[in-house]
Amino acid sequence: MDFGLTEEQKMVQDMARNFAEKEIKPYIEQDEENHYYRREILTKMGELGLLGWSIPEEYGGNGMGWMEAVTALYEIAKVHTSWRLSISGNCWGPAMTINEWGTEEQKQKYIPGLVSGEYVGSFAITEANSGSDVGSMKCFAKDKGDHWEINGSKMWISGGHTSDVGLLYAVTEEGGGPRGISCFIIDYNNTPGVTRIPIHTKVGMWPAPTSELVFENAIVPKENLLGPLNKGFQICMWMLNNTRMGCATGAAALSAAALEGSVNYANERIQFGKPIGKFQMIQQQIAEMKLEDDAAKYLVYRAAWLKENKLPSQQETSMAKLFACQAAVHAANMAMKIYGSYGYSTEYPCGRWLRDAKHFETLEGTSNIHMGIIAGIELGYQPNR
Ligand SMILES: Cc1cc2nc3c(=O)[nH]c(=O)nc-3n(C[C@H](O)[C@H](O)[C@H](O)COP(=O)(O)OP(=O)(O)OC[C@H]3O[C@@H](n4cnc5c(N)ncnc54)[C@H](O)[C@@H]3O)c2cc1C
Repeated sequence: MDFGLTEEQKMVQDMARNFAEKEIKPYIEQDEENHYYRREILTKMGELGLLGWSIPEEYGGNGMGWMEAVTALYEIAKVHTSWRLSISGNCWGPAMTINEWGTEEQKQKYIPGLVSGEYVGSFAITEANSGSDVGSMKCFAKDKGDHWEINGSKMWISGGHTSDVGLLYAVTEEGGGPRGISCFIIDYNNTPGVTRIPIHTKVGMWPAPTSELVFENAIVPKENLLGPLNKGFQICMWMLNNTRMGCATGAAALSAAALEGSVNYANERIQFGKPIGKFQMIQQQIAEMKLEDDAAKYLVYRAAWLKENKLPSQQETSMAKLFACQAAVHAANMAMKIYGSYGYSTEYPCGRWLRDAKHFETLEGTSNIHMGIIAGIELGYQPNR
């Protein structure tokens, strides 16, 4: 068993770290304050190959897989977690799913733009009344002979109003539940009947756009059905098993950022004539953060290794996602305490860490849903895929 990074992985780590320090870090405060999505960062990510993991080189992929991908995403998310969404939104969501389920024509048409950063990607599952219960979605795609007509709405979609190309999950057989859902590729710049409404009320993740999508007699070409008709639920679960690695890795990285910040602060802040790091109670907080941070990171790398080797990984992905989210929330909470009043000031990143950490507990399966997956597989109620 090797816990080290290969030379190639170290180069990826350095490249992603330098990129995040140079292209993301200088704008954090400005973009947080203005809730601003800096589109050019995605373009630069594409140029550096940061959106092309596990994608064949013929479609623009970078020739590297899961271990390198989580290494890169970790470095980016450690600087600002909002930007980890781009790897899920472009690569692990639409590009990888089209690569697995698409026709040759679909692959050639959509994957290169998603991987190069020419397109902003997205995937739309959630609706106002259908969250964890994906099979209860209502957005409907009607077969009109020479095209699909889509009616309904989607809620909380990352990149929804900035997206050029996205996956849409919609009902194609009324009353079919999970067996009546299909997946569609939506070219948002050329689809009449779609209204995209930015959501400005989020508690955190401010530079990452989130949206409501309304489809009113939206016309989608026949050839944009992805995979077999009524197999959308299966495709969706396959996709989520990949995109969840974005949450897991991002959460582990946020926990590491909060730990690193807390260690620096504990060594610098003097009270009672010594650095607060010398007090046992602060040491207990640092020890707990370190323990959970390491455990989260290793769970992430184990899940990535299983995926890299095409082994079942659903349970391990849920474990990584659930644990890393808990570690991130705990670490952000601890950081705020260790920084004292300064932690409560927007001049320090503690508030951002806490706001951003909380979102991990909800999206791509809430913590309850992941506990259900982990236990369900362990108890033999469902196979580990
Ligand atoms: C910042 C952000 C970005 C997002 N991006 C996207 C995106 O790009 N695409 C997309 O499709 N969606 C996206 N979402 C939506 C997100 O995936 C859903 O919010 C999530 O799946 C939970 O659904 P819900 O909010 O409707 O909660 P609900 O499903 O209504 O759950 C409410 C509560 O009930 C619990 N609960 C529900 N069912 C069970 C059960 N069976 N057992 C135990 N407890 C249960 C949950 O754990 C939770 O505590 C995003 C959300 C956020 C906040």
